[in-house]
Amino acid sequence: MCLHDHTSAPTPAASLPRRGILAGAAALAGISVASIAAQLGGASAAQAGEKPSGPNYHGSPLTHPPLIIEGGTIVDPQTGGAIEDGVLVLDGGKVAAVGTRDETREAVAAVAGRARVLNASGRWVLPGLVDVHVHANALADARAILQGGATSVRSGSSSFYQDVALAALPAWAPGVSPRMTPAGLFISPDLGDSLLADPDLAPLATLPTGVRETADLAYLTRVNLSRGAQVIKTRANPRAGIPEQDPRELVYNQEQLSAVVKAARGAGVLCHAYSAEGIDGAVRAGVRSIEHGVFVSEGTIAEMVRRGTYFTPTMDAITSMAASPNPVLAARGKEYAPILQAAVRAAKEAGVTIVAGTDSFGTDVTPIGTEARLLAEAGLSPLEALQSATVHAARLLGLGNDAGRLVRGGFADAIVVDADPLSSASALEQVRVVVAQGAVVRNGL
Ligand SMILES: [Zn+2]
Repeated sequence: MCLHDHTSAPTPAASLPRRGILAGAAALAGISVASIAAQLGGASAAQAGEKPSGPNYHGSPLTHPPLIIEGGTIVDPQTGGAIEDGVLVLDGGKVAAVGTRDETREAVAAVAGRARVLNASGRWVLPGLVDVHVHANALADARAILQGGATSVRSGSSSFYQDVALAALPAWAPGVSPRMTPAGLFISPDLGDSLLADPDLAPLATLPTGVRETADLAYLTRVNLSRGAQVIKTRANPRAGIPEQDPRELVYNQEQLSAVVKAARGAGVLCHAYSAEGIDGAVRAGVRSIEHGVFVSEGTIAEMVRRGTYFTPTMDAITSMAASPNPVLAARGKEYAPILQAAVRAAKEAGVTIVAGTDSFGTDVTPIGTEARLLAEAGLSPLEALQSATVHAARLLGLGNDAGRLVRGGFADAIVVDADPLSSASALEQVRVVVAQGAVVRNGL
C-alpha cells in the first residue's frame, strides 16, 4: 500500500543540462562523440540562427557538404510511386530537391562543385527507415541502429535517460545518432538501478511492492517528462523473454494504465502487452500503441480501429525466441509466432495501422528491414510492409512528412538498397547506403 501522496509533490524541475548523461553513455560504450565526428568527416561551420537551443555553448554544430544521390529509382512509400533515373539533392540537413534529372537540374547546379555525388544506378533510393521500438543506452547502440537503416526511432525506454541525450545529438553532430523520440525510464513496478537515474526518484525507493499505486505511477511519469521524455513506455504484462515469467499475468490493469496515460498529458504512451486482458485494458486506457500484442482479441482489435491505436507486433523479437537455447523460451517462440502472425493479419484486415518495431536492445540490433520482411511474411504486401517502416511509423512519431518520405524540405535521411522494395520487402534488408541528417554513415557503393 502506498502511504505517500506523490500527486501533491511538485513536478521535478527540468534539469537535464547540468547532468553528465552524455559523457556517461559515451564512456559506457568506450567511444567518444569527437572520434565519431572525426570519422564522419564533418567540418565545423557557423550557421547563423541554426544553433540548437540549450546551454550557451560557444561552438557551432557540425555541418556536412551537400550530397547528390543520382541514377537510382526513387520510391515514395506514401504512394508506391517510383522515379527511374531519379536525383536526390540533400543540403543543410534537408531535402533540397527530389525528382527526375529535369526537375532537379537547378538544385544540382546550386550545389555543383561543393556536393559529394553517389551513383545509385541499378539500385533503389528510399527515405531513411523508422523503427518505433528500440532500447539504446550508448553511442554504439545508436550507431548499430543507423547501420541497419533506421534513421528515426522511438525509444522503448532506456536505463538512465541516455535516449534523451541521444535525441539531442543530431542537431549538433549529424550522423552520430538516429533521430530519437525518447521515452526515458520504463514505467514498471521494479525500477532496479534506474532508481539512480535521477535524485527525484528517491521517494520511490520507499515502496515495498514497487511502483503500483496510481499516484506513484503518475509521479514516475512526471519525472520522465521533466527529464525530456517525449513518449511514455509502460506495460500490462511481464516480459516474454524471461523463462521464469509468464507474459500472460497482469502487471498493470486498466485503472493503473489510465493513471499513466493521464499523467503523460498528451505524450503518447506505448504499452508492452501480451494477454488479451492486458491488451484490452491498455487500449481502453488510451495508450497510443500496443507493443507485442500476441493474444489480442477480436473485440480489442475493433476498439483499436475505433481509437486509432497503433500495433507494433515486434515480429522479430517474438519469432526469434523459437531459436533460443532455453527450452521454455523456444517453446514460447514456437507457440507465439503463428498466433502473432494471425493477429497481424486480423488487425490489418480490420484497419489497424501496423508499424515496424524491432525491440532491439543495446548493440543487439535487428535491422529494421528484417522486421518489415517478417511483417510481409505475416501477410502485409511489400508496399504495406514498407509503409509500416516509413510513413505509418513517422506519423506515430509525429514527424509528419519530414520522415518516411523524400519530399522537398524534409529530413536529409535516406537509404539505398540493392533490390526493388515494391516487389519484395526483403529488399529492405539489403541496405547499401545510409544517410542520416545529411551525413553518409554507411556507404557500400
Ligand atoms: Zn522493448
